[in-house]
Amino acid sequence: MPPETSAEVGAEKEELAEKMDEYEGNTAILKQLEIKYNEVKEALARTYDGTFGHCDVCKKPIEEDRLSANPSAKTCKEHM
Ligand SMILES: [Zn+2]
Repeated sequence: MPPETSAEVGAEKEELAEKMDEYEGNTAILKQLEIKYNEVKEALARTYDGTFGHCDVCKKPIEEDRLSANPSAKTCKEHM
């Protein structure tokens, strides 16, 4: 049944706006997850070619605390 009063129309608009916000939020999260996923895939590839845990810039081992905070880190603290 279509809304009859302007209050009902207002409530519907509000609900729609909320859903759109939610959708935008989810899209942003999805993008973040996709980035993370690609980083993890790259890290996994580096475990195969033996460069995992080494800085892309100076080739030195990446600090253990940096790797445990972000296992997909590609650089040491100096080159992050
Ligand atoms: Zn480095």
